[in-house]
Amino acid sequence: MPKRFILLVILIFCLFLMAFRWGFFAHKKINRLAVFTLPAEMAVFYKKNLQYLTEAAVNPDRRRYAVANEAPRHYIDLDDYGDSALYKLPRYWSQAVALWGEEELNARGILPWHIHRVYLQLKEAFLLKDPDRILRLSADLGHYVADAHVPLHTTRNYDGQLTGQSGIHGLWESRLPELFFEEYELYVGPATYLPNVQLAAWDFIKASNQAVDSVLWLERELATSQNESKFSFESKGKQTVKVYSESYAASYNNLLNGMVERLFRLSIKRTGDIWYTAWVDAGQPDLKKLIDYKPSAEELEKRKQELLLWREQTVKSRSHESTEN
Ligand SMILES: [Zn+2]
Repeated sequence: MPKRFILLVILIFCLFLMAFRWGFFAHKKINRLAVFTLPAEMAVFYKKNLQYLTEAAVNPDRRRYAVANEAPRHYIDLDDYGDSALYKLPRYWSQAVALWGEEELNARGILPWHIHRVYLQLKEAFLLKDPDRILRLSADLGHYVADAHVPLHTTRNYDGQLTGQSGIHGLWESRLPELFFEEYELYVGPATYLPNVQLAAWDFIKASNQAVDSVLWLERELATSQNESKFSFESKGKQTVKVYSESYAASYNNLLNGMVERLFRLSIKRTGDIWYTAWVDAGQPDLKKLIDYKPSAEELEKRKQELLLWREQTVKSRSHESTEN
């Protein structure tokens, strides 16, 4: 094997270990299971593309190292905004930019606003009836919604590095779901319509952030009281890697009292909710027609122009109304 290739493999493996996220395992499961929350009119198209939606659930994490500005979409460091950040941060992006500026916001992470942005893009993809775009954006959206349910994605202390708990990120979002997934009760019922996706995204973030203290405190308690060894070694492919031992992970999972499972379940439900909401808001286009249909580039361009025109007219009519009022 050429040396360069080996180095590349090692590099990719290191990046994989360094990445902070719901593990690939969890992201894939969440997107996959969200498909089963959809009404029949949507499920017919989503189920046909189940494999793509599952595999592409991790694309946003893969892009983090290739696309500038991707990284801040996965988190928000709320503590950077002070104690009552959750109450004083503007809910809408334009207001937030006016107050903090784009650079500052990007430096602290933009997850809740980005969920709303991708929802708007998805709604547009439904309006354009562009199957590829619908699928790509649905997969992305599932990823960001799931990230919003990871408490450590809402704090500067994202890996416990400020409290001597480095590694806790992977323990919470990768090790625990991988070990205990089989025990999860994941039935979430049908997707429901969200009257305001932007505010809903803030609700997810708020609930996640309120769990940060427990996530950190319980592990700290465990680390000081536990007699068993915290780490063990496992082989992954040809590599031997250091992992949190199963008994340590099990004790932590018990202390968390179902938290990971609950947030996993909510991630599935809310991914389905936002997909469904985007579809409803786009006028419930017939997705059956998109299953075996690929619009030509020309056709898509035409639809895009129509949409732009329609949007322009809407804006004009709105400002017209507002001047009359
Ligand atoms: Zn992510």
